[in-house]
Amino acid sequence: MRAAIARHHRVAPEQVVLGCGSSEILQMADEAFAGPGRPVVAAEPTFEAVLSYARAIRAEGVKVPLAPDFRHDLPKMAAAAAEGVGLVYVCNPNNPTGTIVGGDELAAFAERVPASTTIVVDEAYHHFVENPSYRSALELVAKHPNIVVARTFSKIYGMAGLRLGYAVGAKERIEAMSRFASFSNANAGVLAAALASLADPDLVPRQRKLLNETRRWLVGEMARQGRRTLPSETNFVMIDVGGDVKPVIQAFRERNILVGRKFPSLPTFLRVTVGKPEEVRAFAAALQEIVPAKAAA
Ligand code: PLP
Repeated sequence: MRAAIARHHRVAPEQVVLGCGSSEILQMADEAFAGPGRPVVAAEPTFEAVLSYARAIRAEGVKVPLAPDFRHDLPKMAAAAAEGVGLVYVCNPNNPTGTIVGGDELAAFAERVPASTTIVVDEAYHHFVENPSYRSALELVAKHPNIVVARTFSKIYGMAGLRLGYAVGAKERIEAMSRFASFSNANAGVLAAALASLADPDLVPRQRKLLNETRRWLVGEMARQGRRTLPSETNFVMIDVGGDVKPVIQAFRERNILVGRKFPSLPTFLRVTVGKPEEVRAFAAALQEIVPAKAAA
């Protein structure tokens, strides 16, 4: 599998490590590069796993609020990722906001971060992005051996329950991470499914088109209802419900519609994952019942 992924990304097999989902990749990165006195820098809000694992190994977590446009504030993150910082985590696109940083911005950021600090770029939602300014951090790995890119089969490939993620980076960083991998962390079933997925050239374009079209419908419907959404390049959308989101989440649960949790730094935003078109239509209708909104003028 390592060889197949290496071929897929045109890197050497030694530049790839597998994980039981990319969650294990993030855990390995924390264990390899962070620890007491070696903090982890991450955005607020972002996917929390890297900060949770940091707490478990007594590494300090340093949170850098998103910029006013809800994107990573890369200049502030670079300033925070000074010498001595173990790891800086860039989730691109970001969960929970769905926002991206562009390829040029990421390249400028990589120039500013000290070589001793590992930059983990989490590209779990990479395949959904359509914005032309976006580029994968994989293109930066050759120039910046401190960059590690995390990917997963859980999102566009729809294999979250099967569990497979991986990291690509310079041989030395990947070796350092591999020491912390659990033994036999990828089962035969998921490996067969992943190989079949990589061999299917239609899978990613088909899923991207389907899910992005459904997301565009949802975003359009929210605008029609007069609601604000964050610009998402993923299979989820943040919708401003104009008040505390907690009771709204509960009201959806009572209707058997499961939406994302509350993110304390974005207390009025509801995160909804794009499913089948009929599920998204049911969500939009239920939202109108739970939090009626005036139609946009
Ligand atoms: N990274 C991001 C940004 C995520 O949103 C998730 C899951 O929600 C993961 C990583 C972990 O996914 P998995 O462990 O299933 O690969």
